[in-house]
Amino acid sequence: MIRKFISRVLGRKTPPSHGKPVTIAVAQHGLQRDDISRGCRRTVETLQEHGYQAFVVGGAVRDLLAGIRPKDFDVATNATPEQVRQCFRRSRIIGRRFQIVHVAMGAETIEVTTFRGHHREHDGNKAHTDAQGRVLRDNVFGSQAEDAARRDFTVNALYYDPTSEIIVDYHHGVADLRQKTLRMIGDARMRYREDPVRMLRAVRLAAKLGLAIDPEARKPIREMAELIDNVPPSRLFDEMLKLLTSGHAVRCVTQLREEGLHHGLLPLLDVILEQPLGERFVMLALEATDMRVREDKPISPGFLFATLLWHELLAKWELLKGRGDPAIPALFVAMDDVLDVQAEKLAITRRIGGDIKDIWAMQPRFEQRSGKRPYGVLQQPRFRAAYDFLLLRAESGEVDRDVAGWWTDFLHANDEQRAAMLLPQAPGETKKRRRRRRAPTNDGPHAATGH
Ligand code: ATP
Ligand code: MG
Repeated sequence: MIRKFISRVLGRKTPPSHGKPVTIAVAQHGLQRDDISRGCRRTVETLQEHGYQAFVVGGAVRDLLAGIRPKDFDVATNATPEQVRQCFRRSRIIGRRFQIVHVAMGAETIEVTTFRGHHREHDGNKAHTDAQGRVLRDNVFGSQAEDAARRDFTVNALYYDPTSEIIVDYHHGVADLRQKTLRMIGDARMRYREDPVRMLRAVRLAAKLGLAIDPEARKPIREMAELIDNVPPSRLFDEMLKLLTSGHAVRCVTQLREEGLHHGLLPLLDVILEQPLGERFVMLALEATDMRVREDKPISPGFLFATLLWHELLAKWELLKGRGDPAIPALFVAMDDVLDVQAEKLAITRRIGGDIKDIWAMQPRFEQRSGKRPYGVLQQPRFRAAYDFLLLRAESGEVDRDVAGWWTDFLHANDEQRAAMLLPQAPGETKKRRRRRRAPTNDGPHAATGH
């Protein structure tokens, strides 16, 4: 109560980090040291042998307690990056916003981070912020308590020592996890202002872990949603990709919408979810993605973003065709338009942008089911992705199911069956082609009217 009052008055959080942490023994938390990857255990042990403190931290501890297999293991230590590097032959310091050390252990890479501290005005370490209060740089080492306080949610501030099998818990994260609550450490508004991406993280982690976002953390999201505008596009892209490939994309997107987070700030979701056919298509795509993630199958970001933007592309394409532009060039213009608009908010990488275009550009070619053309389509390097995309379009009701069915049959047929499946050439189609190859003097007028 008092802390909250003080924080309101001062407009900043008094760090709860000065409180004593709770240490939780294995009998109470149940996490076994064997749950930790070998590489991670060895990293922690080596640091401890050199006299440093070292813990497994963050998402891995949280996920294991929640019964989920962690994606990766992170280590936090009081050793500086340089000291960490000296403990491991195969390690290197990675720059970025904050120096971390990558330690190679067999096939694993363990990320080792030095405890981070607060920025205080009086010691000249104030964090650099932009006009909206977003923290631009924060690279001060600190104590474990300070490190815990600057993490986002209580369930993310747990430190597990595989040697003693004790969990150090500064913010009642273990209890929150048991009570299925995602609670922000400190004042939620201030933490969102420092880093608006935390709003997206709240939605993603709640969906992934089946937690309810604590009202104190949930309420401000709606009001502060527009701060997302301020986040660099590349970071937003990373976070959206994490969200969409979390295996809980449907739940995440539904929740983003409930929190008002999709509106105005992610044009991507904004546009599509507002049109019934678009929504159906996107939800089908996300369901399929969730299924693949849960089955440990690889998923392609290009495919995912191609589906998310498809209905926006269709709208642009129709507009251009309505103006009288020829279909295929219009498609290419529309593709560039849609991707350019996205780039302002979401830095889709060049490679993924290329994949998206390949998938889109193939779609009109599926309509051509006569002559040699279907064979050419089968040979395309991106055939599989484009074909899966076609199936989704058919399932959502956007294209005739017969077309998709035809391609499925064609794909599985032998040479003879394929030849029998080809549709008759459209009237004039063969003639036109032959004519064009002859001397232009006779055919000029016909060729011009042929399209
Ligand atoms: P996952 O790995 O499932 O995506 P995670 O919580 O592990 O989720 P990471 O990005 O790997 O996410 O971050 C590791 C830890 O770093 C988090 O558990 C959290 O303690 C801290 N962290 C990450 N992002 C932020 C942030 N924006 N603000 C504060 N702390 C953060
Ligand atoms: Mg993680």
